[in-house]
Amino acid sequence: MDEPLIHILPEHIANQIAAGEVVQRPESVVKELVENALDAGSSTITVFVREGGKALVHVLDNGCGMSRADLELVLRRHATSKIRSLDDLHRLRTLGFRGEALASIASVADVEIITRRSNDEHGWRLISQPLKPHRIEPADCSAGTQVIVRNLFFDVPARRKFLRSDTTELRYISETMIRYGLSYPELSWKFHDGNSMVFDVQPQSLLERIDSLFGADIAESLVPVDYTSDLVRIEGYIGLPALARTTKASQYLFLNHRPIVNRALNHAIYQGYEHLIEKSAHPFYVLFLWLDPERVDVNVHPQKHEVKFDDERAMYHAMLEAVLGSMREHDLIPHLRVREAESVAPLVSAQSATNPQPLLVNRLTGEIVSLQQPATKQSRLPSNQSLRTEPLRWRTATSEHLPSLYNRPVTNELEQRTVEPHVLPRMWQMHNKYIFVQTDDGIVIIDQHIAHERILYERALDAMERATPERTQRLMFPVEVELTARELAIFREVEHDLHRLGYECRLVQGRSTVEIAAVPIEIASGKEAESLREILDQYAEYQTIRPASARDNLAASFGCRAAIKAGDPLSPAQMQELVAELFRCRTPEVCPHGRPVMIHFPLRELDRRFGRTS
Ligand code: ADP
Ligand code: MG
Repeated sequence: MDEPLIHILPEHIANQIAAGEVVQRPESVVKELVENALDAGSSTITVFVREGGKALVHVLDNGCGMSRADLELVLRRHATSKIRSLDDLHRLRTLGFRGEALASIASVADVEIITRRSNDEHGWRLISQPLKPHRIEPADCSAGTQVIVRNLFFDVPARRKFLRSDTTELRYISETMIRYGLSYPELSWKFHDGNSMVFDVQPQSLLERIDSLFGADIAESLVPVDYTSDLVRIEGYIGLPALARTTKASQYLFLNHRPIVNRALNHAIYQGYEHLIEKSAHPFYVLFLWLDPERVDVNVHPQKHEVKFDDERAMYHAMLEAVLGSMREHDLIPHLRVREAESVAPLVSAQSATNPQPLLVNRLTGEIVSLQQPATKQSRLPSNQSLRTEPLRWRTATSEHLPSLYNRPVTNELEQRTVEPHVLPRMWQMHNKYIFVQTDDGIVIIDQHIAHERILYERALDAMERATPERTQRLMFPVEVELTARELAIFREVEHDLHRLGYECRLVQGRSTVEIAAVPIEIASGKEAESLREILDQYAEYQTIRPASARDNLAASFGCRAAIKAGDPLSPAQMQELVAELFRCRTPEVCPHGRPVMIHFPLRELDRRFGRTS
């Protein structure tokens, strides 16, 4: 019989191969040892390196320590105390679990481990060199574990050759140490290179930690982020636009403590800064995402930080909301603050005196029509206090002007809002397309179509949730609209919600025709049939490009189709109303598809461009 060609690799070779993945450079050793120290529940972790970690990586912790029996196993491949079954993997809360790190490191470097559990009388020292049997002896040491890794890749010239200069390797290690320092501000960290201390930090708040690691200049130019949804909690700090740099170095994203890279989330953050920083600039951020560990796949490559989420789109939106929300709250996004001296009396005041009801622009007549505010909208601004966090702040002579315009009573559905001769901002419509609004500190340019789209979108969503039909206009004579098979299928799917939007319509028995008896108030007369067909078509289009919920799509389709268009001239009163309505939206800055609704030009930016220094 022939000798088999296949044979099982000796453990040492298997470990060296694994080391190829786990240990690429001294920084990987630091990372693995620090993660073990974290998993051991340490509160103080100290890291010493020499020659960029090539000569020495020494990590000390005050964690749980190991027994002699554990120490005996620790260098064996797949030796781990962290999981016993596949089920455990899904509940994993530790950073390591493969049981590969120490075995891999010990196959390419000299390793010494000194460890003691706090209740043991003395500790143990393990001494290991590649290819040699290790030995274990009693040791006199403090509770916790020290792992000393010397001469990395000493016997593996091919790998050693690929290491960079000491300074470069040290830079990798420092980056990693900064990341841990940020990720665990509640722990003490000490980091030394050769004989010099790189940092030594005590337990702190995250902001204090950022201050310790990056300096006060940065710590003082940050805005906190704190966002919670069913899906995820996002917290941390984002830098003011002025902190943006030409390199991406200062961006830290953590998922349940792990540093991660994710293009979609990164894009969402940049999206939040759109128009606030230059295209080539990179914002500063330190953000933490907290997700149920069961919903994250941690079984990624040990050196890869890329993560994938079940629902990337939802995560994207959560991140965008988180960033925009905190910018809005902290004055980074324009709010229409108007200086009293520069403002004008509103042009709607004359009409509103005789018409004490809420107002809305009707695009078909160009008139201002009365508007019944949805109940849910009212609850959005329940008290004076909430105004502080709302983006719209009209600065007027006396503060009691505020409530009457933006702080409407919650009690009365058909509430009576009179627009008094307030101080309202100056606005101009340009090219029947853009509305320019002078603000306290510059100018805001609003795209009238996108703004109206946002307003109608939110209103449609509210209407569908409320289940009471939106305001409708009843038609004198019902109109019929002939639908294609595809439109018909969509009609059936969304019929119920169309009613809630204000379409009173039904399928004519035995035909592919829909009869419309009433339409939402925003629909121009003569456009009833067309509007319905357009909404159905738009819905079909969105369905393919934005996998959102059916309702979300319908609301977006309605918003897109019923909104005033670029090219529609607006009266001053219509502009005022549109802008006011816009700022009552939950997310006035972006349209349902993420396009910006407005662009802010701060005065200081104009001054800068014109070379004005004061
Ligand atoms: P993993 O972390 O994937 O379990 P490692 O090879 O990194 O695999 O470590 C193997 C085991 O050694 C760990 O599961 C843990 O039980 C033990 N261990 C390693 N480092 C420490 C430490 N600093 N303190 C306590 N136990 C440790
Ligand atoms: Mg480990």
